[in-house]
Amino acid sequence: MNKKQPKQVISKYPIRWAKKNFSIKIFCSIPNIATGILLQAGKNHFLIDPGDGILRDINKELSAEKVAGISDIFITHGHHDHVGGVWSFLTYLRVVRKSDRLNIYYPEGCVEIESIYSAFSKVYAKSTTYQITLKKISKHTTFRTKDVAVKPFPVIHKEISIETGKSRVVPALGYNFSFNDTRICYGGDTAYCEALVRNAKDADLAIIEAGHDDDTPDDMHMTMHEAISIGKSAKEYFLVHVPE
Ligand SMILES: [Zn+2]
Repeated sequence: MNKKQPKQVISKYPIRWAKKNFSIKIFCSIPNIATGILLQAGKNHFLIDPGDGILRDINKELSAEKVAGISDIFITHGHHDHVGGVWSFLTYLRVVRKSDRLNIYYPEGCVEIESIYSAFSKVYAKSTTYQITLKKISKHTTFRTKDVAVKPFPVIHKEISIETGKSRVVPALGYNFSFNDTRICYGGDTAYCEALVRNAKDADLAIIEAGHDDDTPDDMHMTMHEAISIGKSAKEYFLVHVPE
Protein backbone atom coordinates (compact mmCIF):
# COMPACT_ATOMS: atom_id res chain seq x y z
CA MET A 1 0.00 0.00 0.00
CA ASN A 2 1.30 3.38 -0.91
CA LYS A 3 0.57 5.47 2.13
CA LYS A 4 1.68 9.04 1.81
CA GLN A 5 4.08 9.95 4.58
CA PRO A 6 3.51 13.24 6.36
CA LYS A 7 6.12 15.81 5.55
CA GLN A 8 8.73 15.85 8.25
CA VAL A 9 9.35 19.29 9.62
CA ILE A 10 12.80 19.67 11.08
CA SER A 11 13.39 22.63 13.28
CA LYS A 12 16.77 23.99 12.29
CA TYR A 13 17.19 26.49 15.09
CA PRO A 14 18.55 26.89 17.66
CA ILE A 15 22.07 25.85 16.65
CA ARG A 16 24.67 25.57 19.37
CA TRP A 17 28.42 25.12 19.17
CA ALA A 18 30.93 25.02 22.00
CA LYS A 19 34.60 24.48 22.54
CA LYS A 20 35.95 24.48 26.06
CA ASN A 21 34.47 27.53 27.75
CA PHE A 22 33.52 29.35 24.54
CA SER A 23 30.10 28.81 23.01
CA ILE A 24 27.66 30.34 20.61
CA LYS A 25 23.95 29.78 20.24
CA ILE A 26 22.07 30.93 17.17
CA PHE A 27 18.43 31.17 18.16
CA CYS A 28 17.31 32.29 14.76
CA SER A 29 18.67 33.46 11.41
CA ILE A 30 15.92 33.83 8.86
CA PRO A 31 16.26 36.54 6.18
CA ASN A 32 13.85 39.41 6.56
CA ILE A 33 12.42 37.90 9.78
CA ALA A 34 14.99 37.76 12.56
CA THR A 35 18.48 36.91 13.69
CA GLY A 36 19.48 36.39 17.31
CA ILE A 37 22.80 35.12 18.63
CA LEU A 38 24.19 34.62 22.14
CA LEU A 39 27.94 34.34 22.63
CA GLN A 40 29.42 33.03 25.85
CA ALA A 41 33.08 33.28 26.86
CA GLY A 42 33.70 31.93 30.33
CA LYS A 43 31.32 33.74 32.67
CA ASN A 44 30.55 36.54 30.22
CA HIS A 45 27.65 36.76 27.80
CA PHE A 46 27.31 38.90 24.69
CA LEU A 47 24.59 39.44 22.11
CA ILE A 48 25.17 39.51 18.38
CA ASP A 49 22.56 40.92 16.00
CA PRO A 50 19.61 40.91 18.43
CA GLY A 51 16.65 40.74 16.08
CA ASP A 52 13.01 40.35 17.03
CA GLY A 53 12.42 37.62 19.62
CA ILE A 54 15.79 37.92 21.32
CA LEU A 55 14.30 38.77 24.71
CA ARG A 56 12.09 35.67 24.65
CA ASP A 57 15.03 33.49 23.59
CA ILE A 58 17.65 34.72 26.07
CA ASN A 59 15.19 34.57 28.93
CA LYS A 60 14.68 30.88 28.24
CA GLU A 61 18.43 30.46 28.23
CA LEU A 62 19.71 32.64 31.07
CA SER A 63 18.57 33.84 34.47
CA ALA A 64 17.37 37.47 34.67
CA GLU A 65 20.55 38.22 36.60
CA LYS A 66 22.72 36.90 33.77
CA VAL A 67 20.70 38.72 31.15
CA ALA A 68 21.22 41.92 33.14
CA GLY A 69 24.94 41.15 33.17
CA ILE A 70 25.27 41.13 29.38
CA SER A 71 28.01 43.64 28.74
CA ASP A 72 28.30 44.05 24.99
CA ILE A 73 26.15 43.91 21.87
CA PHE A 74 27.72 43.49 18.44
CA ILE A 75 25.77 44.72 15.44
CA THR A 76 26.76 43.73 11.91
CA HIS A 77 24.37 46.15 10.15
CA GLY A 78 21.12 47.97 10.67
CA HIS A 79 18.57 45.85 8.81
CA HIS A 80 15.47 45.16 10.88
CA ASP A 81 16.07 41.42 11.03
CA HIS A 82 19.38 42.13 12.84
CA VAL A 83 18.42 45.00 15.17
CA GLY A 84 14.67 44.52 15.72
CA GLY A 85 15.13 43.41 19.35
CA VAL A 86 17.44 46.22 20.47
CA TRP A 87 14.71 48.52 21.78
CA SER A 88 13.03 45.85 23.89
CA PHE A 89 16.38 44.62 25.19
CA LEU A 90 17.48 48.09 26.29
CA THR A 91 14.13 48.67 27.96
CA TYR A 92 14.15 45.27 29.65
CA LEU A 93 17.59 45.98 31.14
CA ARG A 94 16.15 49.07 32.77
CA VAL A 95 13.23 47.09 34.19
CA VAL A 96 15.59 44.49 35.72
CA ARG A 97 17.75 47.31 37.09
CA LYS A 98 20.94 46.64 35.20
CA SER A 99 23.65 48.63 36.91
CA ASP A 100 26.85 48.15 34.93
CA ARG A 101 27.68 49.57 31.53
CA LEU A 102 26.41 48.22 28.19
CA ASN A 103 28.57 48.69 25.09
CA ILE A 104 26.98 48.60 21.64
CA TYR A 105 29.40 48.09 18.73
CA TYR A 106 28.12 48.93 15.27
CA PRO A 107 29.44 49.96 11.85
CA GLU A 108 29.97 53.65 11.24
CA GLY A 109 27.00 55.03 9.33
CA CYS A 110 24.46 52.65 10.86
CA VAL A 111 21.69 55.18 11.51
CA GLU A 112 19.32 52.56 12.89
CA ILE A 113 21.40 51.95 16.04
CA GLU A 114 22.05 55.65 16.60
CA SER A 115 18.33 56.36 16.19
CA ILE A 116 17.23 53.60 18.58
CA TYR A 117 19.77 54.84 21.15
CA SER A 118 18.67 58.43 20.69
CA ALA A 119 14.98 57.54 21.14
CA PHE A 120 15.76 55.38 24.19
CA SER A 121 17.80 58.17 25.76
CA LYS A 122 15.04 60.68 25.09
CA VAL A 123 12.31 58.57 26.64
CA TYR A 124 14.27 57.16 29.59
CA ALA A 125 16.98 59.76 30.23
CA LYS A 126 15.85 60.35 33.78
CA SER A 127 15.04 56.80 34.71
CA THR A 128 17.74 54.52 33.38
CA THR A 129 19.64 52.40 35.84
CA TYR A 130 22.64 51.80 33.60
CA GLN A 131 24.85 53.54 31.08
CA ILE A 132 25.06 52.76 27.39
CA THR A 133 28.18 53.49 25.40
CA LEU A 134 27.88 53.52 21.64
CA LYS A 135 31.05 52.15 20.05
CA LYS A 136 31.03 53.19 16.43
CA ILE A 137 33.46 51.08 14.43
CA SER A 138 35.28 52.96 11.73
CA LYS A 139 38.64 51.18 11.88
CA HIS A 140 38.98 47.47 11.60
CA THR A 141 41.49 46.98 14.36
CA THR A 142 41.31 44.33 17.08
CA PHE A 143 40.04 45.35 20.50
CA ARG A 144 39.35 43.41 23.68
CA THR A 145 36.34 43.21 25.90
CA LYS A 146 36.02 40.83 28.88
CA ASP A 147 38.89 38.59 27.73
CA VAL A 148 37.53 38.28 24.19
CA ALA A 149 39.57 39.67 21.31
CA VAL A 150 37.23 41.15 18.72
CA LYS A 151 38.32 41.86 15.18
CA PRO A 152 35.75 43.57 13.02
CA PHE A 153 36.12 43.42 9.25
CA PRO A 154 34.21 45.13 6.44
CA VAL A 155 31.82 43.09 4.30
CA ILE A 156 29.74 43.96 1.24
CA HIS A 157 26.02 44.31 1.80
CA LYS A 158 23.35 46.28 -0.04
CA GLU A 159 19.64 46.97 -0.06
CA ILE A 160 17.16 48.13 -2.67
CA SER A 161 16.19 51.76 -2.17
CA ILE A 162 12.41 52.12 -1.97
CA GLU A 163 12.66 55.62 -3.50
CA THR A 164 14.85 54.84 -6.50
CA GLY A 165 14.55 51.08 -6.92
CA LYS A 166 18.35 50.94 -7.14
CA SER A 167 20.68 49.07 -4.85
CA ARG A 168 22.75 51.02 -2.35
CA VAL A 169 25.53 50.09 0.05
CA VAL A 170 24.69 49.40 3.69
CA PRO A 171 27.43 49.87 6.34
CA ALA A 172 28.17 46.28 7.29
CA LEU A 173 30.71 44.31 9.31
CA GLY A 174 31.67 40.77 10.11
CA TYR A 175 33.40 39.91 13.40
CA ASN A 176 36.06 37.49 14.55
CA PHE A 177 35.73 36.58 18.22
CA SER A 178 38.73 34.90 19.88
CA PHE A 179 38.76 33.49 23.39
CA ASN A 180 41.78 31.59 24.67
CA ASP A 181 42.89 29.68 21.58
CA THR A 182 39.48 29.40 19.89
CA ARG A 183 38.17 31.65 17.14
CA ILE A 184 34.63 32.13 15.86
CA CYS A 185 34.07 34.08 12.65
CA TYR A 186 30.62 35.52 11.95
CA GLY A 187 30.26 37.16 8.56
CA GLY A 188 26.88 38.86 9.05
CA ASP A 189 25.04 39.58 5.80
CA THR A 190 27.38 39.86 2.85
CA ALA A 191 27.99 39.18 -0.78
CA TYR A 192 31.05 37.08 -1.55
CA CYS A 193 34.01 39.19 -0.46
CA GLU A 194 37.73 38.76 0.06
CA ALA A 195 37.63 40.10 3.62
CA LEU A 196 35.32 37.27 4.64
CA VAL A 197 37.41 34.74 2.73
CA ARG A 198 40.49 35.87 4.69
CA ASN A 199 38.80 36.03 8.06
CA ALA A 200 36.90 32.74 7.88
CA LYS A 201 39.99 30.77 6.91
CA ASP A 202 41.12 28.37 9.67
CA ALA A 203 38.52 29.68 12.16
CA ASP A 204 37.41 27.03 14.63
CA LEU A 205 33.87 27.93 13.61
CA ALA A 206 32.67 30.06 10.69
CA ILE A 207 29.07 31.23 10.54
CA ILE A 208 28.35 32.05 6.94
CA GLU A 209 25.22 33.44 5.37
CA ALA A 210 23.72 31.83 2.27
CA GLY A 211 20.91 34.32 1.81
CA HIS A 212 20.72 34.43 -1.97
CA ASP A 213 17.89 32.32 -3.26
CA ASP A 214 19.30 31.27 -6.61
CA ASP A 215 22.69 30.28 -7.92
CA THR A 216 23.61 33.46 -9.79
CA PRO A 217 25.97 35.56 -7.64
CA ASP A 218 24.84 39.07 -6.74
CA ASP A 219 26.10 41.91 -4.56
CA MET A 220 23.82 41.50 -1.52
CA HIS A 221 23.95 37.90 -0.33
CA MET A 222 25.86 34.73 -1.09
CA THR A 223 24.70 31.74 -3.05
CA MET A 224 24.84 28.35 -1.38
CA HIS A 225 27.92 27.47 -3.44
CA GLU A 226 29.76 30.64 -2.48
CA ALA A 227 28.91 30.21 1.20
CA ILE A 228 30.03 26.57 1.23
CA SER A 229 33.31 27.42 -0.50
CA ILE A 230 34.12 29.89 2.30
CA GLY A 231 32.78 27.68 5.07
CA LYS A 232 34.99 24.81 4.02
CA SER A 233 38.11 26.89 4.68
CA ALA A 234 37.24 26.89 8.40
CA LYS A 235 37.53 23.89 10.71
CA GLU A 236 33.74 23.79 11.11
CA TYR A 237 30.99 25.95 9.70
CA PHE A 238 27.29 26.68 9.84
CA LEU A 239 25.30 28.08 6.96
CA VAL A 240 22.74 30.57 8.22
CA HIS A 241 20.32 33.19 6.90
CA VAL A 242 19.09 30.70 4.32
CA PRO A 243 15.67 31.59 2.85
CA GLU A 244 12.94 29.33 4.30
ZN1 LIG B 1 20.81 42.59 5.73
